[in-house]
Amino acid sequence: MSLQLISLGSGSNGNATLVRVNDTLLLIDAGFSAKIIAERLATIGVSPQDLAAILVSHEHSDHVKGVSVLARKFQTPVWMTRGTHRRLKDKNIPVLEYFHPHGSFCIGDSKITPFPIPHDAAEPCQFIISDGQRRFAIATDMGCVTPYVSELLTGVDALLLEANYDGEMLRNGRYPYALQSRIDGRYGHLSNEQSAQVAASIEHPGLQQLLLGHLSENNNTPHCALGSVANRLQRGADNVSVLNRAAVSEWFEVV
Ligand SMILES: [Zn+2]
Ligand SMILES: [Zn+2]
Repeated sequence: MSLQLISLGSGSNGNATLVRVNDTLLLIDAGFSAKIIAERLATIGVSPQDLAAILVSHEHSDHVKGVSVLARKFQTPVWMTRGTHRRLKDKNIPVLEYFHPHGSFCIGDSKITPFPIPHDAAEPCQFIISDGQRRFAIATDMGCVTPYVSELLTGVDALLLEANYDGEMLRNGRYPYALQSRIDGRYGHLSNEQSAQVAASIEHPGLQQLLLGHLSENNNTPHCALGSVANRLQRGADNVSVLNRAAVSEWFEVV
């Protein structure tokens, strides 16, 4: 069994994560243009044709920009909730599968457990991907952490966690009040402080990788996000990484 992951970029302007379970390749969100996704995949020797599926968390453009074009060009199966599909602008997807926010499903060697997240989209979900032994969770685009999400994240082996904004930078920045309220509301995004709280509450010796992602371009810095979270962890910054907003990361292997 093997479980590996790599970020093709993570931030408010675009998100895409590639997960490999044995030989099954899953792309979680395609929030960059199809051209950029294909280029970034090429740098790691992967063709879009190799993808077993694209899983879509929700319909915001930083998660779906390249989805429909990739799906049409490469006949890639795309999985999303009915609510996400209803709000999707480009609905023309040749191979479309629906999942239920509380229903696990398998693609190739991977087992996928979606879970609903508090976010201002139609029917937003994030995912836990497993090879049957190890579990990797993605938890971004959440205004707060519900008890259910917190329970699900407990004990995962690797986690991509949102650290969207620094509270002070958001308050003192140039975003209008309405947008500030959306971001720090219960259906917005996790601040560094909230992220640190979650990370501290689920930290355990078996958590091999903690990746901080979905950073805001204007209201956060990698240094700030890492500092806030590492401060609260017993491990400090060990095995904690901040994902780049617009570049491919290294491969992370969950063993
Ligand atoms: Zn979103
Ligand atoms: Zn997003």
